[in-house]
Amino acid sequence: MKIFALAACLILPLSVLAQKTYVQCGRLINGVSKNAQTEMTIVVEGNKILEINKGYQSGSANDKVIDMKNMTVMPGFIDSHVHLSGETSKNRYTEHFTLNEEDFAFRSVNYAERTLMAGFTTVRDLGGETALALRNAINQGYLRGPRILAAGKSIATTGGHADPSNGVNRELMGDPGAREGVVNSPEEARKAVRQRYKEGSDVIKITATGGVLSNAKDGAGAHFTEDEIRAVITTAKDYGFKVAAHAHGAEGMKRAIRAGITSIEHGTFMDDEAIRLMKENGTYYVPTITAGKSTADSALIPGYYPPFVKAKALETGPKIQGAFAKAYKAGVKIAFGTDAGVFAHGKNYKEFEYMVEAGMPAMEAIQSATVSAADLLGLSDQVGSIEKGKLADIIAVAGNPLQDIKVLAKIAFVMKEGKIYKSNSPGNNPL
Ligand SMILES: [Zn+2]
Repeated sequence: MKIFALAACLILPLSVLAQKTYVQCGRLINGVSKNAQTEMTIVVEGNKILEINKGYQSGSANDKVIDMKNMTVMPGFIDSHVHLSGETSKNRYTEHFTLNEEDFAFRSVNYAERTLMAGFTTVRDLGGETALALRNAINQGYLRGPRILAAGKSIATTGGHADPSNGVNRELMGDPGAREGVVNSPEEARKAVRQRYKEGSDVIKITATGGVLSNAKDGAGAHFTEDEIRAVITTAKDYGFKVAAHAHGAEGMKRAIRAGITSIEHGTFMDDEAIRLMKENGTYYVPTITAGKSTADSALIPGYYPPFVKAKALETGPKIQGAFAKAYKAGVKIAFGTDAGVFAHGKNYKEFEYMVEAGMPAMEAIQSATVSAADLLGLSDQVGSIEKGKLADIIAVAGNPLQDIKVLAKIAFVMKEGKIYKSNSPGNNPL
């Protein structure tokens, strides 16, 4: 008996470690291939994909089987543009005077969970200090949410989109500087990037032009000089950062593209020259059609936005879908991004519908949110496809999104790094 007990001690931990999960997929969209495959099995071990095989497999008695024979299985989605630090409401412009930091932080916990449950296992958070601590808490296992690459505070110019003191009285306005993400020279631009490094950012975000939701008159003009953008980008490279540029107007876009920006966000008023420059430089376009449409809708509700914002939302919002259609037709590289936070978190799927409506085939829309977004984020070796050795970020829906993109509104299954967070498939083992 002693020998038996000793043997059991040795064997048990090994067998627990070796437990695998067999995900049986009726239809598999792996992110990489142009066609879906049918009747496949993904084998997950620990936090990674061990192998992908044809046919349905279930391993040994010790292994776990997830029956998704009636589902479409995909890589976890990536949203390249969210703001988990906040969410739209008609009180948004007064809440900064009435709430404390911890109020925003607790809310962001809910936003992160909604985002993950909507099938988004990775996001790039492009502005908002809360996202840094939220990222850390999720990574440390305290909270349920997507993997976050966070910009922290966006970098703007004085009075520009993301100057935190726009629209307040003279006493409150003060004179924010590089530390607060407001710069007015190449020197200050360098300092602001280094400050973001010190605070733990993963990526740098600049506001190359005016924006819709800032309480300021201009929504599209170029706000940074090209020199200032170059200073941001060259400094960012020293620290391994990519740089994303919020840009609505064509002139601001072109300055950013010529300076070597990684991605243009929104791109509402892009012209043919901006499109040509993006293609020449391999610049990614992150459309955020959903933000445009939802801000235009909210602007129709009396009192929802201050007067400056209302006018800009009505002028700018409805045009983003057209810019996307033009860029897509021209062959610009597109990565999925929504600007969630400008509308309710968890409704990121709307972007798929708008992309397909504007002429992008459903498979390409899904690839923009998987393999392409992973490339933009610099995470291609870890996420964005269902391939051997990648992290096990796996989602599923009932129905076929290639025939009806709207099914992506109802994500039934979410696994992030091998751990199941949601499982509504009727055939599944209970969690
Ligand atoms: Zn944004």
